[in-house]
Amino acid sequence: MTSSFQTVASLRSKLANRDVSSVELTRDALARISDLNPELNAVISSSEENAMKAATQADEAREKGNDSPLLGIPMLHKDIFCTQGLPTTCASKMLANFVAPYDATVVRRLDDAGMITLGKSNMDEFAMGSSNETSYFGACKNPWDTSRVPGGSSGGSASAVAAGLAPLATGTDTGGSIRQPAALCGITGLKPTYGRVSRYGMIAFASSMDQAGPMARTAEDCALVLEAMAGADPLDSTCADQSVPRYSSHLTDTIEGMRVGVPKEFFSSDLNSDVAAAIEASLAELEGMGAKLVDVSLPSTSLGVSTYYIIAPAEASANLSRYDGVRYGYRCENPVDLQDLYLRSRSEGFGDEVKRRILVGAFTLSAASYDEYFMKAQQVRRLIAQEYDDVLSQVDVIAGPSAPNTAFALNDSSKSITDMYMEDVFTIGANLAGLPAMSIPAGLVGGLPVGMQLIGRRFGEVDILKLAHQFQQRTTWHNLTPTLEERH
Ligand code: GLN
Repeated sequence: MTSSFQTVASLRSKLANRDVSSVELTRDALARISDLNPELNAVISSSEENAMKAATQADEAREKGNDSPLLGIPMLHKDIFCTQGLPTTCASKMLANFVAPYDATVVRRLDDAGMITLGKSNMDEFAMGSSNETSYFGACKNPWDTSRVPGGSSGGSASAVAAGLAPLATGTDTGGSIRQPAALCGITGLKPTYGRVSRYGMIAFASSMDQAGPMARTAEDCALVLEAMAGADPLDSTCADQSVPRYSSHLTDTIEGMRVGVPKEFFSSDLNSDVAAAIEASLAELEGMGAKLVDVSLPSTSLGVSTYYIIAPAEASANLSRYDGVRYGYRCENPVDLQDLYLRSRSEGFGDEVKRRILVGAFTLSAASYDEYFMKAQQVRRLIAQEYDDVLSQVDVIAGPSAPNTAFALNDSSKSITDMYMEDVFTIGANLAGLPAMSIPAGLVGGLPVGMQLIGRRFGEVDILKLAHQFQQRTTWHNLTPTLEERH
């Protein structure tokens, strides 16, 4: 296979040198998807015809002198991004037959940069989950061990990149959905600063935290793709009007003396001790690279999960009220009246986790509990954001684990709903505070990948990307690949 396990950066130079064509890469990637996807269920719709057509056009454009860095490189979009002419389901029965009439800004920009959309990747329904098990289209598997989850909600994207189905996939992260699956699948994922990337055409979950980002093999690839994704968008008023740095040209800027804060609360009893040891070894590596480790404290870390699970469901209950069976999406059969249409369309169209969030959100926003829950959560959110800002005024970057454990078993009945929510205990803070954060491969425990998290200052993507890139120049964790292959 020409394309599997290669990086965006290496494919870019191979395409530029005419060692390979986009048509060849795209054909290989589609063949690999049809070979491995029945086992992984990482891709829930593919667009062979459109992809081959786009690849032919990319090769022609190159012959005419187009040398855009991403031209002709195949990729997958999380099925939360609207793609004109392709299904956009959010892995829900509610949108199972929805074909978007327009492209999300992220999709449009990567298309304009010449990337080839192979299809759409699996996810938790409406991005609610940490295991990809809430998908209406069935669970996705972790290529490192197919009896385990890939993490979520961007589990399909993580599984696909880890299995070499595509060098890149988009993800979204509201509470950890890029970083936790990246960690569990041994790939690199970046959640940008809130407002760095347009949310236009990205199906809304919790609008004050949702953010799109790249999931790839390396920090260098994330930098290249973020350059194309980011930047002001007149179609999203929450998208920042800030110039986009050339991230890829800052990757080798010095990190000598960079201050890396290590919060003691990230090494609490919630963290598996083997994962802790792997993270400590990676922190020592950062020190060996010239960074200075500084002990810091984020005392409200333990409040993050409960704060998030008030704010996110509240926003979700408002965002999901649009699915009423009237305008688009699932409609129940033979409604007797309007009330019955609403009630049955929503009852039949949404899965259990989504319903749970809608109910919780409607409750905390109700007049009787608004002050006690929603207002209180907003105050705690401010407190948490303030703690991050205070720490980031003393250090350049915060580092720690991405997830408390390695990939857990599918259908693990011993895992309660709140255990599942605790998967994001270390990632949620960056969403509540709107900060950029990434997960990079940082070890193996029992043959399963571990991710180290790097959190930067607002719009400080350059700092975390260069630290991650230089870490990847000295370590090989990001080059490891699962053994799925051998079985085929
Ligand atoms: N796991 C978290 C949740 O279930 C985060 C999801 C996300 O970031 N989209 O809400």
